[in-house]
Amino acid sequence: MDVCNFCGIQLEVDSVFSAKHSMLNSSAINFINEKLELNLPGGCTKCIRKEALRAHEIGSREDDIKSKEFLWKRSWLPMTSSGISSN
Ligand SMILES: [Zn+2]
Repeated sequence: MDVCNFCGIQLEVDSVFSAKHSMLNSSAINFINEKLELNLPGGCTKCIRKEALRAHEIGSREDDIKSKEFLWKRSWLPMTSSGISSN
């Protein structure tokens, strides 16, 4: 089982449950660092979720294409309530 180097959470491979965590790829990390002027070395969808959301907010306000590219694919972010159902 993979573990996040940064927060230590266990990363789950694809499962039927939506509450899985995975490492963010480097373009996502770069995007976050750029938008928030941070210098994060990396992280998973748990430990930098807040940053990712904030970066996305900024990006979408700027109508940044990268923001959409980066986060629309990532259904783990509750951008819209329709993506995740708790049924
Ligand atoms: Zn993590």
